[in-house]
Amino acid sequence: MKEPLRAFLRGHFGAVNEHAPYADELLREFLGLGPLHAFIPTALGGQYQGAASCLEVVEETSYWSVPLGLTLGIAGSLFLRPLVRFAAPAVRDAVVGDFLSGPALGGIMVTEPTGGTDIFSLHTAYTDDGARLRLRGTKCWAGLTGRAEHWLVAARLARGDQLTKRLNLVYVPLAAPGVRVETVFDALGLRPIPYGQTRYEDVEVPRSHLVAVPGQTGLRVIYETLFRTRLGMPAIAAGLCRRLVDEATQRVGNRSSFGTLLADYDQVRCRLEELRAKAEINRRLWRFACLWMDRHEDVATDYALVNAAKVVSSETMQTAADAALQLFASAGYRASHLVGRAYVDARPFLIFEGSNDVLDENTFQAVLGGQGRFDRAAVTAQLARYGLAFPDQVPAVAMAALDGPEAGRQRQQVQLGRLVSWLLVLALLQHDEVADPDPADPSATDLGVRLACRRLAELAAALPYLS
Ligand SMILES: Cc1cc2nc3c(=O)[nH]c(=O)nc-3n(C[C@H](O)[C@H](O)[C@H](O)COP(=O)(O)OP(=O)(O)OC[C@H]3O[C@@H](n4cnc5c(N)ncnc54)[C@H](O)[C@@H]3O)c2cc1C
Repeated sequence: MKEPLRAFLRGHFGAVNEHAPYADELLREFLGLGPLHAFIPTALGGQYQGAASCLEVVEETSYWSVPLGLTLGIAGSLFLRPLVRFAAPAVRDAVVGDFLSGPALGGIMVTEPTGGTDIFSLHTAYTDDGARLRLRGTKCWAGLTGRAEHWLVAARLARGDQLTKRLNLVYVPLAAPGVRVETVFDALGLRPIPYGQTRYEDVEVPRSHLVAVPGQTGLRVIYETLFRTRLGMPAIAAGLCRRLVDEATQRVGNRSSFGTLLADYDQVRCRLEELRAKAEINRRLWRFACLWMDRHEDVATDYALVNAAKVVSSETMQTAADAALQLFASAGYRASHLVGRAYVDARPFLIFEGSNDVLDENTFQAVLGGQGRFDRAAVTAQLARYGLAFPDQVPAVAMAALDGPEAGRQRQQVQLGRLVSWLLVLALLQHDEVADPDPADPSATDLGVRLACRRLAELAAALPYLS
């Protein structure tokens, strides 16, 4: 990461108790340093050199500020990457030019007031007369609502009054006539990122604004986009967890209770070890995801890997923030404290980019669908797909759960899907071909293994009580 960017972030977000929502000028100044150029190919004037070149910037930014890291995720992964890859060259070049010449932002709108999980029942529609598209509908909860100038809007093709099943992304500038931000939400966290409801009232754009690949369904483009973004989520989690490790270590090394340094209490050390384990798990996840993304043009069917990255990163982010708050206690329970903010800001990561409950079931179904059964052999086959071996040291209770009878109900399938995600993490920690330990914390891998085993044991032990 470029030093001016790091110096800027350190200067503005270095103090643990100065994390009040930042102003728009700060965001503009930050964007002016070019962090989004990492998402634009060199051939188009950017600095993209593989997935790691983007996620390194996201990880480092998230270390200092989760909302800023997420802003890069939204504008870079959810908007720029699909635009660069799938949009018509004339549209792509004009928009990319805007990002290269100034502090531009983009985002994606899928969710609607009637629901975000069921992508097949979206109501936003467009008609296509061969030259122009006409768009109608209402979207909500898109990150950077009203703030980003450029949007990818998910909509279904309408023929007459009939909505077809054909779903596509349409590029729509915020300034297009007929686009209106109706409401700005009082979002609980991620405060500097605006969320709200946007209405599209007969918005006309040229047909070239369809962000699609000839011969491929639009759904494939949407999945490609969402799946790659999910694979990048561990970079945000790794940045946050690394910061929590640093700040919590410093705090407990300087504070005493009952005449004993907090850092000398075993329970406090246990929490610190868990934080370090979570930082390492997420670091390994995003690095592995980068290799995978660079080697595979299409990740739209890699359910188990993608879901593990998303589910484990969001879960560990939230539990890490919770543990850090316990260590900081009252000092951290403030809206402008890094830890208080992390506690609130981490929660929606379990909701957006696919609700974790749904993704967990989805993982179960991916294992079941791949082999026609759910058992240890089927899980082994799923892991092998990603070049990973079935891990060692799996707790006996988790091994028994894999071959057990408890998979009849959705709640059990969700639990087993989550168990598969943690098995994948354990496999990654033990068998990852790029298993270079974090030089700053070489024992973190062992801590990660222990945490993954504990999580597997917890998930498996709960199964019989989920009937
Ligand atoms: C902070 C934040 C940022 C967001 N950013 C964006 C964005 O940039 N762009 C965008 O388009 N959207 C965004 N969203 C919306 C987000 O993607 C949706 O909230 C999410 O997809 C869930 O949709 P929903 O809220 O309508 O919940 P619903 O679809 O109503 O689902 C609610 C819950 O019901 C349960 N559920 C639903 N279906 C099933 C099922 N099949 N099986 C089991 N349980 C089920 C799950 O527990 C789920 O969490 C954001 C949301 C938040 C909170």
